[in-house]
Amino acid sequence: MKTKLVVLIFFLFAAFTFTQAQTFKAGAAVRDITPDHLIPISGGMGTPDMPTGYQGKLTTRALVLEKGNTKIAIVGVDNIGWPAYLGDLSRKKIKGIPPENILIGATHTHSAPDAYGFTDEKGNTGADLDYLKWCVNQIADAVNEAVANLQSASIKTMVGEAKGKIAYNYYAPKLYDHRMGVIQAIATTGKDKGKPIVTLVNYATHPEILGPDRGLISPDLCGPLYDRIESKVGGVAIFMNSAQGGMVTADNRRPNDKEANDWNECIRIGNLMADEALRIITPVTAEDNPMLYCTSKTITFPVDNQAMRFVFRNSPVAAMAGKTPGDLSTISTRINLLDIGKAQVLTIPGEALPNIGFYVKRHMKTKQPFLFGLTNDAFGYMLTKEDFNSFERYDYVSRTSLGEMTGEIYEKNALELIKDSPAAEK
Ligand SMILES: [Zn+2]
Repeated sequence: MKTKLVVLIFFLFAAFTFTQAQTFKAGAAVRDITPDHLIPISGGMGTPDMPTGYQGKLTTRALVLEKGNTKIAIVGVDNIGWPAYLGDLSRKKIKGIPPENILIGATHTHSAPDAYGFTDEKGNTGADLDYLKWCVNQIADAVNEAVANLQSASIKTMVGEAKGKIAYNYYAPKLYDHRMGVIQAIATTGKDKGKPIVTLVNYATHPEILGPDRGLISPDLCGPLYDRIESKVGGVAIFMNSAQGGMVTADNRRPNDKEANDWNECIRIGNLMADEALRIITPVTAEDNPMLYCTSKTITFPVDNQAMRFVFRNSPVAAMAGKTPGDLSTISTRINLLDIGKAQVLTIPGEALPNIGFYVKRHMKTKQPFLFGLTNDAFGYMLTKEDFNSFERYDYVSRTSLGEMTGEIYEKNALELIKDSPAAEK
């Protein structure tokens, strides 16, 4: 009799732990990364400019998802690009998540301190290593807090058309992707039951309404986007950029070839994006037990661009992170693929042009394709070999890319990763 009871208790315990282990959980956290003194801000390759003030706060925002043995982190950083050598320093300080399951993406604001350590011909740089080390800790802290905040959750995911005057392609106005992806995790127990833990917005655009020329340290349109979502539904808002290269940007056009490039325009577009994201996600029925899958792959690109080699070779940030340059004829990085319920997410280590975005989305095994651009690395523009050095319009993006084969190598590896991975839920 006693044995039977023990056996029964064992089975009850096993059933309990199994259910526990399979419970879908989500947690989120935010850390401020606004520098406490003025640091030169970067709008791309070249020497950064010294700003004169601040407009809004720079932040890093982390979402952690867990189910069974799978745990992943998605991190957004208000910066133009966040190199893997800095991301890896944070990954070492994060407990309980495999480094390859930690996706760190840049929002691509053009009004934040340089994290790559661009140098001029004399080797001068505007990068502030103490600031970057602090950011590394803040990013790790945000993820560790998101892990501590993990709680039972359901999930809503959707991809829909974002309407209104949000973005356009500066090179060819209509050639851009109107789709916005939204992921929202909702608490299923506790005092916040029924409320969003996090709302993630995935959309392709350049947050460069202010840009470095305004001389302000700023999250650009992302700041108002976060604030609007958080004031309307609570929880943490995260923005992950998408395939916004060459040259999808904020639609701040005004009559007579004028542009609005002030904070009011950041508010207008940030609020509109937030409202569109909530319009898209609100009617969706939450899923209680979604699938969660994460895989990754290391891919290698040739570095044909001598200016890029120069940056990698002379970057004080890379040296600080203990990254020895090597011969720099090639560079390796990681791409991730996630299934989160009905959504599938693929990362891009740079700024893919919209046609590359459309192509990989078309091949993803889901009706809800998400692309996280500028994630895990930001190696400049990624063009197809046909586009590279073609139209005069593409001179700048060709010059600011690793080389002719970057797009093709990315597409080939992305498609293999998709093929080798399970489809998202139907
Ligand atoms: Zn860009």
